[in-house]
Formats: sequence, C-alpha cells, structure tokens
Amino acid sequence: MTELERKHERAPVPSEWTYASAPEARDIVTLQERYGHYVGGEWVEPRETYTTISPASEEPLAEVGQATPEEVTAAVAAARDAFENGWSDISPAERAKYLFRIARILQERSREFAVLESLNGGKPIKESRDVDLPLSAAHFFYYAGWADKLEYAFPNRRPRPIGVAGQIIPWNFPLLMLAWKIAPALAAGNTVVLKPAETTPLSALLFCDVLRQAELPPGVVNIVTGDGRTGAEIVKAESVDKIAFTGSTEVGKAIQRELAGTGKKLTLELGGKAANIIFDDAALDQAVEGIINGIYFNQGHVCCAGSRLLVQESIYEPVVEKLKRRLTTLRVGDPLDKNTDVGAINSKQQLDKIQELVATGEEEGAEIYQPPCRLPEKGYWFAPTVFTNVAQSYRIAQEEIFGPVLSILTFRTPEEAVEKANNTPYGLSAGVWTEKGSRILWMAERLRAGVVWANTYNRFDPSSPFGGYKESGFGREGGRHGLEPYLDLDGSQALSP
Ligand code: NDP
Repeated sequence: MTELERKHERAPVPSEWTYASAPEARDIVTLQERYGHYVGGEWVEPRETYTTISPASEEPLAEVGQATPEEVTAAVAAARDAFENGWSDISPAERAKYLFRIARILQERSREFAVLESLNGGKPIKESRDVDLPLSAAHFFYYAGWADKLEYAFPNRRPRPIGVAGQIIPWNFPLLMLAWKIAPALAAGNTVVLKPAETTPLSALLFCDVLRQAELPPGVVNIVTGDGRTGAEIVKAESVDKIAFTGSTEVGKAIQRELAGTGKKLTLELGGKAANIIFDDAALDQAVEGIINGIYFNQGHVCCAGSRLLVQESIYEPVVEKLKRRLTTLRVGDPLDKNTDVGAINSKQQLDKIQELVATGEEEGAEIYQPPCRLPEKGYWFAPTVFTNVAQSYRIAQEEIFGPVLSILTFRTPEEAVEKANNTPYGLSAGVWTEKGSRILWMAERLRAGVVWANTYNRFDPSSPFGGYKESGFGREGGRHGLEPYLDLDGSQALSP
C-alpha cells in the first residue's frame, strides 16, 4: 500500500454533514404596517383589514385590506374608465414601452421581490430568486414584444382588446401568476383588476410601486386584496368583460357556473395530478433529479407537479432506492436560507389538507417513507414524503395533494403507462423519461395533458403555451396562444390583402 493509499484509508468518513446557515438579508424589504387597495393609481384606505403572516414563523407581517363589494366596484370602475379614456387607444408601441419598463424594473428590484416572496409565501429563496423572479420579468419582456405585432400574431384578423379583465390568482407563485395574467392582458390593450390570494398579497402590493415607477397610466392595473369573497365580487361585477382564474377545480367550476350565459370570456387554469413516467432505458440518475424537481419544487405547491410517479416494473427497485437516498439530502427549513431545498407549507389550512390526505394513504394500505429531518417548531412544515405500494384507486393517487408527497405506481408496457397516466380527471402535464425519441413522440401523442416534458420536468418559458385538458381547465397562458383570451378576434373583418 502506498503512502497516499494509507492516508486515504485512514481518512475519517463524516457520518453527518452539517451546513452553516446562509440567510439572505431580509432588510432589503421595507414593509408597511398597513396596505390599502391600489385603485386608479392611488392607494385607497381599506374599510376592513386582516393580517398576513410568514408561514415559516407565523410572524405577522402587515395588515392588508379585505375588499368589500363597494371597493371592488370602485376598482372595476377605475379599470373601465382607464380602458375607455386612453389605454385602448394609445399606440401599441406605447403600450409595449410600459411593459418593457415594468420588466426592467422587476429585474432591477428582483432581490427585494425574491425576499418578499419567500417571506410571505414560504418558498425557498433559491427558487424565488432563480425561478419566480427571472420568469416574471421574462413574461413582461415577452409580451412587450407582441404588443405592436398583434396583427402578425393573428394574420387576416383585426385583433381588438376586449375591455376590463378580472384576474384571480393563487398563492403558489404569487408574482409569477400575476405576470402570467397582467402581461398578456396589457399587451392586448385591456385594463385589469387583479386579486392576489389571501395568504400571499405582499408581492402584488409591492408590484403597485413598480407600476408607479413605470408611470403606467392610472387605472390600467388595479389591485384589490381579500379572501374568496373578494374574488367572487370580481367575478360578479357587471363591467368586467373577461375572467382569468388560476386555483382549485372546485372554485373554477363555481366561477364557470356563475358566468354561464353572461357572455363574459373565461379561462381556467385548475388542478392537476400529473404522471411522471420513467422507462427502463432512461438515464436513472437524471430521472431521479427530475422526480425530485417534479414533486418537491415549491413544496409540491405546483399545479403541474409530477405527483404520480409511474416506474417501469423492471427498474422499480433501483429507482426507489436512489430516490430515498436522494431524499435524505434535501434540506427542509428557513425559506430565507440559501441552502434550503424545501421551505414552509403556505398555510395552516393547506398543511391540514396535506396531513389529512397522507393519513388516508396510510389507512388505505400504502407504505410511507419520510427521510429523517428535523422540522422547525413554529410555522407550517411537512417532510418530503414518498408512498410506495399505491393502488390507482387510493385517494393519494387520485386527488391533488398540493404538497411534497409522491405516490409511486408501476407499469410494464408503454400502453399500460398511457392508460394509467390518463386515468385521472385532470390533464395538465406529464413527464416522460426514456432515451428513445420515437417513444417520446409516441407517448406525447397519447397523453391527455396540456404539457408533456421529455427527459426534464417543470420547465417554463414565456413563449410556450401552458394549460389543461378536462378538469385542469381551458385556455392557454404563455406564447401567442396566451394573447387570444384577451382579444376580440371573432367580430373582426378580414383585412384586405
Ligand atoms: P382556491 O381555488 O380557493 O384559490 C385560488 C384563488 O381564488 C384565490 O385568490 C382565492 O382567494 C380565490 N377564490 C376563492 N374562492 C373564490 C370564489 N368563490 N370566487 C372567486 N375567487 C375565489 O384555492 P385554495 O387556496 O383554497 O387551495 C385549495 C386547493 O386548490 C389546494 O389544496 C390545491 O389543491 C388547489 N390549488 C390549485 C392551484 C393551481 O395552481 N392549480 C393553486 C392553488 C390551489 P383566497 O386566497 O382568499 O381563498
């Protein structure tokens, strides 16, 4: 044995890795004690308020408005006024200028927004910094580019804005969902009333400051905060011409019922129970990273999360073993720590829902695995979880858990994989892992999902349309398709050549 070999033989193997904490500085964000509604370019003092908190510590962050029906009416009136008196008539290139400004300001203030997003929503700072913020700015850049090219996007038609868009967004990607909604609406020449989710209003309220900095004309974007009652008022408001909603299938159905027969346009982006399908010829280590990203990204609070893992039977054991090993390296904890992989669950209500569904999984006979990890005492936390021995009929294989919980099933043939993947009321997304291009195309043709990722997962790009089939909703966001719901194309006359 050489000297070098002897040295290595004796080198102690660390039994436990510890990481020094690496917290992002919180003082880049200045919170107000109390926020009003942003209506007609002004802050309006709210009549009623509630407290928004940090889900990681339960610390109160600020008082925000709970918009009353009158306050919603005022916001819609401001949007209508802005639409009729200026915004719809300004030149498309001018509209683009505002969108470009918003995109650039978001880039400049991205650290501030990322910290606020993690503080109010519980997501790890590395995700808000590297995913939410860059993608939000990219959406504004992308749609800024379309604003003066609508007639090229829809050739031989005369695209016109439709008026006032009411937009209701969820808590899983607060700023990104705002960008997905506001950027195409403005590019198409509409004005907006937007409601962020009750638990995550702060980044939308900070965004109002960006609108002021960009000198967007008053009333073009109005933001009202509050709970589901405020959302319902926006849906009911007579002067709203289009509703864009992202959230649960249950509320989406209620909105669809409410709007039936009114002639208002509607797009719904609802839940999902996506299959992430691993074939035996896939690069397994890469696939395991894709599984982790598919379900533990953003604590699994992702409508397109790969929450059902379908593994080809012949590689079931190595995949499960690698996955469990990888799970032990995930760091759960302070969202503002740059080392954190899995942050806090967004609310007590969501934590209760995850716990309830996980309990049914155990009762129904599935086998649970959670890596050893210490969860903070305060706040809302759930350890990354894997269920094996899952039957298709179990609730954990059928219902959207919207948390860091993966259910593993197996298949033998591609036909069986397709059948199991499509055996769901949802149809938002799917993943396929295989080395064969022909198999990817074969699968993609048969999977009833709006997005099919191949050898990757949870990849987003503003130029790429996103949306669902079946109970995952209808309409597309992103890409040229994302402009369509904000335009009147039907009543248009054909353009002369
Ligand atoms: P909701 O569908 O209730 O929330 C989405 C948005 O709609 C929020 O802004 C919410 O306000 C608002 N809202 C609630 N009720 C109404 C109504 N009657 N009319 C108009 N707007 C309304 O989702 P939850 O937050 O309750 O989450 C429940 C489940 O939904 C999750 O466990 C998850 O399974 C799924 N979900 C799916 C999402 C997706 O991206 N597809 C996103 C969020 C949730 P408020 O926040 O005040 O309730």
